[in-house]
Amino acid sequence: MISTPPNRVAIIGAGLAGLTLAISLHRQGVPCNIYELRQPTVATSGALMLSPNALRILDTLGLYERLYKQGYNFETIDFKNHEQITTDKYYLGHEKMYGYKALRIYRQALLTELRAEVKNLQIPVTYGVKFSHIVSEDDNGVNFAFTDGTHATADILCGADGIHSTVRKYIAPEVVPKYSGMVAITCALQRKTLEYPSNICAKDYPMPVAIYGKNGAFVMAPQSIDGSEVLAGTQRAWPEQDRAGWDALLADREGLLELFRQGYEDWPTIVQSALNNVPLDTLAIWPYYVVPKLASWFSPNKRVIILGDAAHAIPPTAGQGASQGFEDAFTLAALLPRITAKLPLEKALTEWKIMRQQRVDKVIKLTLQLNNARLPEAERQKLAAAGAPVWESGDDGELGWLYNEDVEKDVLAYVKAETKNPRTCPVEWLTSKMSLSKPGTVAP
Ligand SMILES: Cc1cc2nc3c(=O)[nH]c(=O)nc-3n(C[C@H](O)[C@H](O)[C@H](O)COP(=O)(O)OP(=O)(O)OC[C@H]3O[C@@H](n4cnc5c(N)ncnc54)[C@H](O)[C@@H]3O)c2cc1C
Repeated sequence: MISTPPNRVAIIGAGLAGLTLAISLHRQGVPCNIYELRQPTVATSGALMLSPNALRILDTLGLYERLYKQGYNFETIDFKNHEQITTDKYYLGHEKMYGYKALRIYRQALLTELRAEVKNLQIPVTYGVKFSHIVSEDDNGVNFAFTDGTHATADILCGADGIHSTVRKYIAPEVVPKYSGMVAITCALQRKTLEYPSNICAKDYPMPVAIYGKNGAFVMAPQSIDGSEVLAGTQRAWPEQDRAGWDALLADREGLLELFRQGYEDWPTIVQSALNNVPLDTLAIWPYYVVPKLASWFSPNKRVIILGDAAHAIPPTAGQGASQGFEDAFTLAALLPRITAKLPLEKALTEWKIMRQQRVDKVIKLTLQLNNARLPEAERQKLAAAGAPVWESGDDGELGWLYNEDVEKDVLAYVKAETKNPRTCPVEWLTSKMSLSKPGTVAP
């Protein structure tokens, strides 16, 4: 039984979850080391949508003030039909209801700020090392190896090494990410090149926007600070490829453009104008993979834990992939220094996984509801008649359960209850607390 807090944690992966875990552990007084495959000089492309639950964590860590100025701040995404009628407005953030506007920010800017904070806190990071495998795990800690043959040790090893995680192979060797059959094709274009419907002037056209038509959805989302650069993208069914196959699809720019423009004539003018102005060098692909639900996020001896995409890569519709990784990191960091004989590591991790899985499951359910809500009217009615869940947006804080939950407070309340007054059924207790936590919020 492990009944003392770790003296040192090793983190594999300096992505969003790994860096956030390091900063959060430092805030809790737990020393850690990070090991990362890529050199920090390797540039990352693309932008991310961050919602209030992620921004609250970044704010607590002292990063929000630096970040919000570097991205595009907004509240809703409009969903439009082919006739350009807004059928729904979905909140990705809202200052009054959820404390923060949503932020769309370049991944590079976010990583740069997280790395700067890690450096500022003097957290050691070893770049250019590839985790290979766990050598041993016993009462004294965990011994692990890199592909260059070197070894390192720690009390606990946390795998934040992304969707194709190597650390996960130690915990769930049979699990492989599952391809959804869909690939997103995107580009970054200048907003001024778009042709707007004749009855709407450019500045009044809502952005971000998702336009639904015969070909599915076409999304446009500003990503530079002033909103002048817009991500434009759509999804296509495409057979699964190996890494070389995905690289080949990306490298064939003209072929990719052709795929992007398939069904051109069925899109409204604004989408056609986007497809007429694709800067070839900005074309990108994103094959959607998900990680099947895992029985555990930690090893039988409790010294190896996974989090972020390594534990639960989820579909992109709700824009919560990174945000859930931030929540994992922040809550795990709150728990680890509070391990005691009354709350041994095994018990704490079991509860942590259940609590986190409940949130992730709710996000996956929300994704399904959102996907159903965006189907053509006839299909939506069929689903509704069959009792399938369909999302209905409103302006009354319907997403409070997601954006307003104080996940650290929940963990600390759990720890307090466990250590003062151990219960036989802590999960039910925690769940009841969470559903009662915000008056006026509605769970989906
Ligand atoms: C195109 C695209 C757009 C997205 N948009 C959004 C969005 O708008 N909103 C949102 O919330 N989410 C979005 N996501 C999802 C989001 O990017 C992920 O959920 C998030 O990056 C997961 O963070 P992570 O730290 O778990 O993994 P990652 O960010 O993948 O980081 C993993 C790190 O581990 C390192 N690593 C891997 N293997 C090893 C090894 N063996 N040894 C050492 N280091 C290793 C990697 O180099 C990397 O630095 C998007 C994803 C993509 C691909």
